[in-house]
Amino acid sequence: MTTTIELKPTSEPLGQAQRAEILADPGFGRHFTDHMVMVKYTEGRGWHDAQLRPYGPIEVDPATAAVHYGQEIFEGLKAYRQQDGGIASFRPRANAARLNRSARRMGMPQLPEELFIGAIDALVKQDAAWVPDDPEKSLYLRPFMFATEIGLGVNRPAGEYLFMLIASPAGSYFSGGIKPVKVWLCEDFTRAAAGGTGEAKCAGNYAASFVAQAQAVAEGCDQVCWLDAVERSYVEEMGSNNVFFVYGSGDQARLLTPELSGSLLPGITRDSLLQAAADLGIPAAEGRITVEQWRADAASGAMSEAFGCGTAAVVTPIGSVKSKNDEFTVADGNPGPVTLRLREHLLGIQRGAVEDKHGWLHKIEA
Ligand SMILES: *Cc1c(COP(=O)(O)O)cnc(C)c1O
Repeated sequence: MTTTIELKPTSEPLGQAQRAEILADPGFGRHFTDHMVMVKYTEGRGWHDAQLRPYGPIEVDPATAAVHYGQEIFEGLKAYRQQDGGIASFRPRANAARLNRSARRMGMPQLPEELFIGAIDALVKQDAAWVPDDPEKSLYLRPFMFATEIGLGVNRPAGEYLFMLIASPAGSYFSGGIKPVKVWLCEDFTRAAAGGTGEAKCAGNYAASFVAQAQAVAEGCDQVCWLDAVERSYVEEMGSNNVFFVYGSGDQARLLTPELSGSLLPGITRDSLLQAAADLGIPAAEGRITVEQWRADAASGAMSEAFGCGTAAVVTPIGSVKSKNDEFTVADGNPGPVTLRLREHLLGIQRGAVEDKHGWLHKIEA
């Protein structure tokens, strides 16, 4: 087994002017950097042939296991330009650990943490010019692993895999100011049940979610709010974000987030915000909340704010909630002060502007 990454960079990286044009308005997940990392896994041999090479298509046999049975897991994290000009990724070891938890659930091999971190360091170093200088932008990193064994047998997990890392410059999620989202309470479909794959960051969870997302859009909403699969009553998460509720205001403000029920995705942003809230002296609890309670607490004014959180947009205020029967707003529907304070604090840490008390930043020498 090797963990050193062989460097085979392109002799034709995209020109400086074209790159600058992309970085001026990168959007999200539309443009990719000059390189990618690939590492092969073969049962009995382990991980081998780790390479950094030019970004480009890969050839896939039509009988490749992942294409038929969906053994695919992924991660998402960002590298940020630091206030001092350097580059750092945010909590990559937490992503490495989660990838391995997802792998365990999907019968896939464990990837050594050092290989995961090594891949990120190598790619970000090679494509450092793609990390935007603008503090509103970042370089989104997408590690993923899928079954490459050829054959249609379904009596065991595949014996061959590919781990890959690609990178994509990401613009500000909220160009023109932070806009609260409207969420659709999804009662027709569920995302995950306990014992299923809801805790794993796997492709199949997304495949199963798009019809509900399309329904949300048809209802004039931005995101799906998922409810628990058993009672269709407890709030689980929002699209590909975890959810937080704020009760009270000022010194009395406190946070509530759905507990890790076994069917919701343990977000690293969620975990970071729980810690950040403690650091800022805002009490935060993990618990359960029903839609009925959400409606009642928003109506009485006990609940003052609600927001979603995840790597892509960091913190997204929830303005209003729509269901088949009704629609309600959280407070006046505008982003609240606790939401904005937590967002600024976390973004500050990510950019090296706020003290990194917990060693979350992983510096990358370019
Ligand atoms: C990735 C993801 C999240 C957010 O996780 P982060 O680590 O904070 O980016 C939340 N829910 C789902 C379903 C996800 O896939």
